Amino acid sequence: MSNKIADYDAIVVGAGFGGIRSLWELGQLSLSVKCFEAGSDVGGAWYWNCYPGARTDSEAWVYALNFAPGVKEEWNYSERYPSQKEVQQYLGRIVDKFDLRKHIDFDTRIKSAHYDDERRIWTVTAANGTSVTSRYFLPATGPLSVAKAPPFPGLKKYTGKWYQASSWPQNDVDLRGKRIAVIGTGATGVQIIPKVASVAKQLTVFQRSPPYVLPGRNYIIDENQAEEIKRDFDSTLQAASDHKAGLAMKLPERTVKGVADAEKIRQIFDAGWECGGFHYQFETFDDLFTDAESNEVASEYIRQKIRSIVHDPGTAELLCPKYPFLSKRPPCGHFYYEAYNRSNVKLVDISKEEIDLYEKGIRTISGDEYEFDIIIFAIGYEAATGALTEIDVRGSQGRSLGENWAKRIDTFAGVLVPGFPNLFLICGPHIPFGNMPVVVEIQVNWIGKTINYMEKNKLTGIEVNTETVDEWSVQLEKTFNATVFAESSKASRSWFVGANIPGKPQNVLFYFGGVPAWASKLEEESTSEWASMRFFL
Ligand code: NAP
Repeated sequence: MSNKIADYDAIVVGAGFGGIRSLWELGQLSLSVKCFEAGSDVGGAWYWNCYPGARTDSEAWVYALNFAPGVKEEWNYSERYPSQKEVQQYLGRIVDKFDLRKHIDFDTRIKSAHYDDERRIWTVTAANGTSVTSRYFLPATGPLSVAKAPPFPGLKKYTGKWYQASSWPQNDVDLRGKRIAVIGTGATGVQIIPKVASVAKQLTVFQRSPPYVLPGRNYIIDENQAEEIKRDFDSTLQAASDHKAGLAMKLPERTVKGVADAEKIRQIFDAGWECGGFHYQFETFDDLFTDAESNEVASEYIRQKIRSIVHDPGTAELLCPKYPFLSKRPPCGHFYYEAYNRSNVKLVDISKEEIDLYEKGIRTISGDEYEFDIIIFAIGYEAATGALTEIDVRGSQGRSLGENWAKRIDTFAGVLVPGFPNLFLICGPHIPFGNMPVVVEIQVNWIGKTINYMEKNKLTGIEVNTETVDEWSVQLEKTFNATVFAESSKASRSWFVGANIPGKPQNVLFYFGGVPAWASKLEEESTSEWASMRFFL
């Protein structure tokens, strides 16, 4: 089909995993494409999050895209958990190998995307005034890319330096010998804290809620393992697609209750803990996600580990979470708890009192003052919907995505939105909660199949019907309510239910039914010639 009616066949926003994978997919369909990226280089989250210690929490062998012919044969990650720099280089390598950079306008932030019902095109406008049209619109703006702004009125008065982890300066920051504060102990803070501890004169961590930190146990990938990763690449990524969280891990096929013997249970948890990272939650017992008592056994195991690592009993107790394990996404740590044994690291519990900034640093409401040269905010993101609603997206008859989603977030499988024809979400709300590259691969592959079908059949538009969206919403709720953390995730301010943002409606923002069930749902549509969709001629 000719693209005469619009400047491009497709516009992609974002040049992270999702955007890059989309550019390649659309290229395979011989469509003309344009991509806008707010950063100065590719990477998305892996461009912006260049803070000290930034690395993946998924293992190198599953933190890869499976499409790129040639890249898997030549690419080696050097560590079990690739560093931010290496992930960014990996994406840069893909972009250069397939000559995709020419499609990308960097340093260009999109402010609006409006659909025209009559012409059946999208007009996408950037903050710099650039405005172009396309038939398909693919925002790949990332599930965790709009950082929560520091909500401290005193920030205006503070005279020291401050940084947000999510937009760390590209030219790095000299932290040596400084008095530094970190606010936030999610996955980001947990990575920063041990790194800052080793260079700062004094590091003070302000903790509102303690996380359950799993030991990452990072290591250098040697030549033999690199060869093995390449040899098994396809089967590993297939195994990851078959796993509920998109990780190449084996189902435990046992429950805490089924094993029953306390010593045997401890040995199984030991094995998961020693293996490192997410093996603890996915390869020990099946019922940690669904049975409150089994979950408590896993929670208490971690608390005992914290008590055994952290020397000062008072500090150890403050670091022990009391809410159920998995209510929040557990971070992977690299000598996280060990950092609190250093004489230059202090933990300040702010679970019961608020803080604000003042000229010299941070002050608690009860009046304690701490002076700092540098304050680092690692206070999280407006997850899933933040980046999409920040853009003024308007669909059929001018309806606003942001206004619609303020009432109810409705999608089909995290890909299509009723009332927004030819809008294909990439990594927006309702995708499975799991390892992103594997989810992106499945999602973009399906979008490619759908667009190919439309092109072949000369269909100008696609829209999902509301019954299908309603059915999907029921599935979302049902699978989430089956978890043990359906309520505790809200109480503990978890981002995957929007509870970390004051005033944001608390809804499950991700699909907890697993990657394979979600992929089957998409597959059902393509094999039934998109029976739940309405196409326009
Ligand atoms: P997060 O998990 O939402 O953690 C934010 C932290 O900031 C929490 O400890 C929170 O305390 C605290 N906080 C928020 N507002 C505060 C306030 N006003 N005063 C004091 N403390 C405040 O955010 P994140 O650490 O950026 O991680 C988000 C997600 O990004 C992760 O779960 C993960 O999926 C992803 N991520 C991945 C990696 C990786 O793969 N390597 C690395 C970093 C991030 P409360 O808990 O009390 O609200």
